[in-house]
Amino acid sequence: KIPVITIDGPTASGKGTVAQKVARELGFHYLDSGALYRLTALSVLRRGVALDDEHALAKAAEHLHCHFDGGHIFLANEDVSQAIRAEEVGNTASKIAALITVRQALYGLQLSFRKPPGLVADGRDMGTVIFPGARLKVFLTASVEARATRRYKQLIDKGFSANIEDLSRDLKERDERDMNRSSAPLKAAEGAYHLDTSDMTADEAVQQVLSWYAA
Ligand code: C5P
Repeated sequence: KIPVITIDGPTASGKGTVAQKVARELGFHYLDSGALYRLTALSVLRRGVALDDEHALAKAAEHLHCHFDGGHIFLANEDVSQAIRAEEVGNTASKIAALITVRQALYGLQLSFRKPPGLVADGRDMGTVIFPGARLKVFLTASVEARATRRYKQLIDKGFSANIEDLSRDLKERDERDMNRSSAPLKAAEGAYHLDTSDMTADEAVQQVLSWYAA
């Protein structure tokens, strides 16, 4: 059985960084499930699909032409690694992710990332819905302040402009929406280990996850 480690948590909790590093340490594949929702969002924003046209949104998710290569993310053949990180794309991703039809359309694609020797998957419902039988489940959290500061640095590093107050407000809104939606709400999976990374470096968090995995 191919082992899976799931790392779920709210926006900017550090799960992407931690999950990628854990995958690298173990030589496992990595699934950034949020990127699939972001790719769907980017695709519909560009084509001007109405955000209340559920059928068209689900179709866009179902026919997502994307691939992942060496840390870069492609939509059709365009490198959109930067473009999908824009706040507008993240906010749209969070809105369309509330639709069960969109989630169902992305289900099979997510399962296909599980390949030998193993997978580290990060998102909101990796441990609860997509890989409920995972070998190790982690729920990462951090304070709103710590998360807003991290998101701010990430955006500035990528050349976007940003403002901490706006980011904190957006984070809270997105958390609310992710936790209160009826399909696959953000919550810790049964049996998940909780890790608050507010005062931790990414490497400390990685060591903790690796030691849980080894135990
Ligand atoms: O993790 P990231 O911020 O890239 O995810 C973007 C949005 O996609 C989240 O706000 C969330 O609403 C949605 N998402 C989800 N389920 C996942 C991963 C992301 O609903 N497994």
